Amino acid sequence: MSPQTLPQFIGGERVGADASGESRNPSNTDEVVARVPAGGKAEVDAAVAAAKAAFPAWSEASPEVRFDLLDKVGDTILKRREEIGRLLSREEGKTLPEGIGETVRAGRIFKYFAGEALRRHGQNLESVRPGVEIQTYRQAVGVYGMITPWNFPIAIPAWKTAPALAFGNTVVLKPAGPTPATAAALAEIIWECGAPAGVFNMIFGPGSMGAKLVEHPDVDGVSFTGSQGVGAGVAQAAVARQARVQLEMGGKNPLVILDDADLDRAVMVALDGSFYATGQRCTASSRLIVQDGIHDRFVAALAEKVAALKVGDALDPATQMGPAVSEDQMETSYRYIDIARSEGGRVVIGGGRLKLETPGWYVQPTLIADTDKAMTINNEEVFGPVASTVRVKDYDEALAVANGGEFGLSAGIVTTSLKHARDFQRRARAGMVMVNLPTAGVDYHVPFGGTKKSSYGPREQGFAAVEFYTQTKTAYSWA
Ligand code: NAD
Repeated sequence: MSPQTLPQFIGGERVGADASGESRNPSNTDEVVARVPAGGKAEVDAAVAAAKAAFPAWSEASPEVRFDLLDKVGDTILKRREEIGRLLSREEGKTLPEGIGETVRAGRIFKYFAGEALRRHGQNLESVRPGVEIQTYRQAVGVYGMITPWNFPIAIPAWKTAPALAFGNTVVLKPAGPTPATAAALAEIIWECGAPAGVFNMIFGPGSMGAKLVEHPDVDGVSFTGSQGVGAGVAQAAVARQARVQLEMGGKNPLVILDDADLDRAVMVALDGSFYATGQRCTASSRLIVQDGIHDRFVAALAEKVAALKVGDALDPATQMGPAVSEDQMETSYRYIDIARSEGGRVVIGGGRLKLETPGWYVQPTLIADTDKAMTINNEEVFGPVASTVRVKDYDEALAVANGGEFGLSAGIVTTSLKHARDFQRRARAGMVMVNLPTAGVDYHVPFGGTKKSSYGPREQGFAAVEFYTQTKTAYSWA
């Protein structure tokens, strides 16, 4: 398949296709998926100016206009789920069902926020002064700069863009380097569905272009999803000029397995949470905290399932786990496996390099047992198909280990004890808690986000999104 050449999407014009960058198919690295222009400050300035110019009309348009656009975008994505899902899998490396599933999620998000555009989020309140009435309004903020990662190349752009547009803001989005074609498919749809010029802009370029967007004085709000290190710099730059900012970053998500767990359920939950989507989910279960009595049976049963996982080309229907997105991500997994070994971890399954017939960035799914909570593997995000187990004596120790470390995105427990399940829900220091479910895999109509260094600022998604994408005005009147 010949590569697409992508333009910059600025102010209703497709411009600047100098195409000096590219994305490759991680399942077959000989194949270039897209050629991409490498933008910089000029593109940021032009896109922000276009978004700023479009803001007054868009924010004052009838909410029905915004409903119609978002509803149409949602319908179009859902109609084209197979084609976009295939492109996503070719470019990111997740399996085709995962690629189509993510595309459907993006479509559903637009349809959900179409409804939000019409819903009234203000209040009428009684004043403490007789004859005075109070109303609160939720008003659009202005131009939002958005910076997204490669691991959900359509869903994350969707869950930032849809609420921003629904509430009357305009958008400049800079997607991640490895997955531009999937992001561009979303831009094409938003434009084809009739977004007025400047309402939605997408610009391609390196990380430094993201920094320019964050620093731009006409960007009123910044929504970032990516790694913790980059996120910290984004927050500093945004706060320094008093822009709104929201960050979603890494995780080192614990999954606790208690002695009373249903073994099959525990294995299924761990397999999905740790290895599906090649472990490249911020909510992946990377720390398996296992009680003594079930530990050996659990590790043996999970190892058997991991060994049977069919790793291969993302588009092959037999494939259960695709490649890493890039050579960097592949090498990161191998590096952390080596560190875990050198610190005393026991590689139960996987751990070696994986060469298939086609050249790809494949990683053997790897399970490492006998690790200690203080080891590097239990404290730093790998972002690959690598899980480690920590043995604990009881629930209290499990909870303490789960709550250790600097991240707090998602936490799970597998147990048949209602008492422990409810206690874990209350006391796990994470933004999302799962009982007898994988730590990854969340609904699109409810809040998403974490604690500690996993997140910063208001929650994303569902009914929580109104917080970040609007500002409250309080009006008093006497008549
Ligand atoms: P990354 O931080 O390397 O890049 C994210 C985005 O930031 C990219 O678009 C990149 O070009 C841009 N960027 C890089 N340097 C920048 C700078 N100095 N200023 C502004 N923007 C800059 O992350 P990644 O490798 O694309 O994605 C993987 C990371 O994303 C993982 O840490 C993962 O946990 C995290 N993630 C978090 C969530 C969540 O919701 N919590 C979801 C998905 C991924």
